[in-house]
Amino acid sequence: MTETLIIGAGHNGLVCAAYLAKAGHKVTVLEAASHVGGAAATHEFAPGFKVSTGAHLLYLLDEGIRKELALESHGLKMARTGLSTVSLEEGGNFVRINGKTIDGPGAIAADQAAMAEYHRLMHKFAGVIARLHNRVPMRLGTTDTGDLKALAGMGWLIRRLGKADMREFLRIAGINVFDVLQEYFESEVLKGALSLDGVLGTFLGTRSNNSVFCALHRLSNGGRYDLPAGGMGSVSEAIAAAALKNGAEIRTSSPVRKILVDFDKISGVELESGEIIESNCVISNADPKSTFNSLLGAQHLEAGFANRVRNIRANGCVAKLHLALNEAPAFNGVPAEMTGERLVIAPSLQYVEHAFNHAKYKEYSAEPVMEITVPSLHDPSLAPAGKHVLSAVVQWAPHNLKEGWSEAKVAFAGRVMDVLAKHDPDIRAKTLYTELLTPADMESNMRMTGGHWHHAELAMDQFLMMRPVYGAGQYAAPLDGLWLCGAGSHPGGGVMGSAGRNAAMAIIDSGKG
Ligand SMILES: Cc1cc2nc3c(=O)[nH]c(=O)nc-3n(C[C@H](O)[C@H](O)[C@H](O)COP(=O)(O)OP(=O)(O)OC[C@H]3O[C@@H](n4cnc5c(N)ncnc54)[C@H](O)[C@@H]3O)c2cc1C
Repeated sequence: MTETLIIGAGHNGLVCAAYLAKAGHKVTVLEAASHVGGAAATHEFAPGFKVSTGAHLLYLLDEGIRKELALESHGLKMARTGLSTVSLEEGGNFVRINGKTIDGPGAIAADQAAMAEYHRLMHKFAGVIARLHNRVPMRLGTTDTGDLKALAGMGWLIRRLGKADMREFLRIAGINVFDVLQEYFESEVLKGALSLDGVLGTFLGTRSNNSVFCALHRLSNGGRYDLPAGGMGSVSEAIAAAALKNGAEIRTSSPVRKILVDFDKISGVELESGEIIESNCVISNADPKSTFNSLLGAQHLEAGFANRVRNIRANGCVAKLHLALNEAPAFNGVPAEMTGERLVIAPSLQYVEHAFNHAKYKEYSAEPVMEITVPSLHDPSLAPAGKHVLSAVVQWAPHNLKEGWSEAKVAFAGRVMDVLAKHDPDIRAKTLYTELLTPADMESNMRMTGGHWHHAELAMDQFLMMRPVYGAGQYAAPLDGLWLCGAGSHPGGGVMGSAGRNAAMAIIDSGKG
């Protein structure tokens, strides 16, 4: 058995390494950056102020992986679990969503019962999707008993919802969150917040199809928002520790320039330093477009497959704002003890849909939506005593901006601060330092095509055996010895680890590597 190489120490690459090393593979992970984690990392952005670089809320990490890799014994700790969502409103009429209950001055009594039913249904439907996460997707068009059983199993998952809920599942799965939320609720500030679940991290508006599917994906591991102590980097570091304990080697500052091919088989990689490492098993945690187009080269692919890769949608549209603050923010009408919850600026369905409209024309949102955390309220290690960090996912900031991000970045940061100031008028005075990461920054710093949260848009046509494209849906590329293990593969992005584990299982089952 030659050495198994993994390109990228994102959390999925590390999960894959940990499982393969446990199964006896000699594994080396090659990471371009000087640290592990990819989009699940922590960095110091101003002296003494640390923040989660990309992902800032943990809600999808697979429980099985957490237990099997004993992540708590490798240092994983939560600073706070079970954050509620507070939907901010300029006049202070916020609504707080806590599981199936709602309260706050903007809450409408009639919405309470609707919320209980919406919560029941969405969590039940999300359970169907969750059952598909931890398995290698079935192949289409084979007569293999395993594939046929898996296909039938998928139908059964839907059938066992029961007649009424199955009908509702089939009705709403293909429509959009805008229409569904209009049917259920009256309060605009509640609908705005719930609609975010369907669009955050995607190039979708609330009226786009696939937005219900994305909302279900977000809820699929229970929908509980946690804040890891030390930021999201501590999740990746715990996984790295598990991989190292199992015998894997991790080499940071080791960017891979090329995947090497000998006739029609993988023969290793060449690093940017010129070093060549031979291997007949190379697994890529890089996104699928980078893997096939840049690292491998389309000349090694059959034309139809190369064309499908070219058509993968991966136009990232999320920016990340980090503020070093002199004191904690205070949002209009929101009691101080709620400032540490998951705060969203999405005051109505129309607001969220308008915020998206600009992205269609390669413009940034004039009034973006935001998901805000103030993690230092729960984790003093992130900021000097008495000071705070604010971390905001800001949407929509399309990667393919008309004028390019080097022109627009400062102006967009100003817009974002203007929106924040509508909710905390003193936010500028409290700010000691600002960092804004655009999708272009994420593309270059994290080597993600388009700076895309999911490496490839999360949508029904890019899910299961169609993710990232038909022909590579079971983690194996159509070239002997090349595999995928990142967010671009099933079941998609978010800090969940399932793509990494599924890839490891597929490789172990294949007897290769
Ligand atoms: C702004 C933002 C906010 C987000 N917020 C959340 C959130 O709150 N919660 C959540 O669950 N998810 C969130 N996500 C999504 C989540 O962070 C990602 O889906 C997930 O981290 C992807 O993990 P991965 O391991 O598949 O890939 P990545 O994290 O992208 O890791 C890939 C790794 O491969 C390395 N690499 C690439 N090319 C090479 C090469 N040639 N040589 C060597 N190394 C290479 C990269 O440097 C990187 O370390 C967010 C994403 C973004 C961008």
